[in-house]
Amino acid sequence: MLPKKKNSWVLSLQSKTGAEYQHHYFCTCTKEFNIQTTINEPEAPDIVCLICDNDYFKDAVVFEDMQSTKIWKYFEWTTILSENEKYWIAILKYETPIYNDVINEVKLIDKELLRITLRKDGLDSQKISYSSKIVSQYSLFLDEKVQPLKRLLLEEAKESLVDYVITNKSKTIEWIDNNKLKEFSQDNKFKYIIFFLKNHHLKEHKFFSWRMENLHSYTHKYTTELQMLDFIANNRKEKSVKKALYRGYEASLNNTGYCPYSDYIFSRTIDNIDLLVKLYGVYPAVKQHIVTDETFFVADEFIEFLKQHYTEKQVVKLFIEEMQDEENYKEALRDWRDTLRMLQTQSAFQYLDEHFLKVKLTSKKLHDEIVRIFNLVSSELEGKETFDYNEIYLSACNKHEELEFKLPKSVKELSLWAGMLRNCMLGYKRSIHEGRSIIYGVFRAEQLLYAVELNNLSIVQAKAVFNRSVPEDDMTTIRGWNNKLRTIQT
Ligand SMILES: [Zn+2]
Repeated sequence: MLPKKKNSWVLSLQSKTGAEYQHHYFCTCTKEFNIQTTINEPEAPDIVCLICDNDYFKDAVVFEDMQSTKIWKYFEWTTILSENEKYWIAILKYETPIYNDVINEVKLIDKELLRITLRKDGLDSQKISYSSKIVSQYSLFLDEKVQPLKRLLLEEAKESLVDYVITNKSKTIEWIDNNKLKEFSQDNKFKYIIFFLKNHHLKEHKFFSWRMENLHSYTHKYTTELQMLDFIANNRKEKSVKKALYRGYEASLNNTGYCPYSDYIFSRTIDNIDLLVKLYGVYPAVKQHIVTDETFFVADEFIEFLKQHYTEKQVVKLFIEEMQDEENYKEALRDWRDTLRMLQTQSAFQYLDEHFLKVKLTSKKLHDEIVRIFNLVSSELEGKETFDYNEIYLSACNKHEELEFKLPKSVKELSLWAGMLRNCMLGYKRSIHEGRSIIYGVFRAEQLLYAVELNNLSIVQAKAVFNRSVPEDDMTTIRGWNNKLRTIQT
């Protein structure tokens, strides 16, 4: 148990007759004493503790009721650490005197300042709660400067909790070597523990330097670095391939941390060993941007697509020549990443299959060709007048209570409605054509009142004229109509 840290308090109480004041002193040294003063003197006398000479007693009555920010010479608290099946817990408390009118005595009680809990399954990051308003109002004059109490408390709570967790480890993080944590900052220690609690299949220190949030769901079978690298390499067995991967991996760890997305995609799309070896060796600072956690979902489809039109060697040249060229690598990378981002839109690969013209293979030309295709598709949709709808949405064109729901049949009708509601509905033309937005006009007695947008059968927004909100009673009807549609569907 930690030594108990105490504050010195005085609590002044008026006697029942109102004729005098009782001043109860509680000193840090544990000495308690009382002094009685006569009427009209609520202020406690500035006296000195007989045992330790302390003369600094905080007024317990006003302490928690201060209206403005206060700076104190000192303030002491205690940290209590514990755990149960689900959590590790750090609680910071302080002791303060209160008058207990049942036993008619002044006693010291514990009050909570702050609490941090950390879930053992890592599903949540730490939870912090503040229970006393003094946490945000007080500052301490410490080490020659004014320091907010909140920060001091939080730092101490985190530090104590991390120390407690690594000396009382749960089974999933038992393998962690505490020495490895020594150089980390407090925040990184926390991140480290949470990372391995969450990704409990990973059991090696170095994984903390892997940047692979979106890949984890594929990797549950693997616990060690070597197994994971085999997975990244698509289990390729060739010695030169493995060697090149490990070498690139080590270089990344020392550089940016290891981002496995590019290697992961290269391993799955490039068959030629020599080319693959070259790709693994791309500068880590460049490689981490070629395929990222966001774009790896489309990157392999795109590289496979390119391989239908170009040789592997030509495709690989993009990454090992253009993107490592000192002068042009920034533009090349930017064009490439832009291209992958564009491809994340719905039906993108279908447009590519229909319209792609083989261009000279550079990031820039490729980028411009994709832009050309998107513009082409866009203007084809631009000229299209009538909207086509899925059966389920057409079935919801009906009357529900007082309100009637209609879909605009054409761009002309949408434009007419936009004029009546004075809103930007017409801007949705494209996304209605692409099936990304569904917009209903809502009528009462043949008069257009609202527009309702659905996405996946759920209401995204509902607006009246000038984008004002829909009155609550009509909103209830609209929700009722939507619920009916969703029940039919499921
Ligand atoms: Zn004392």
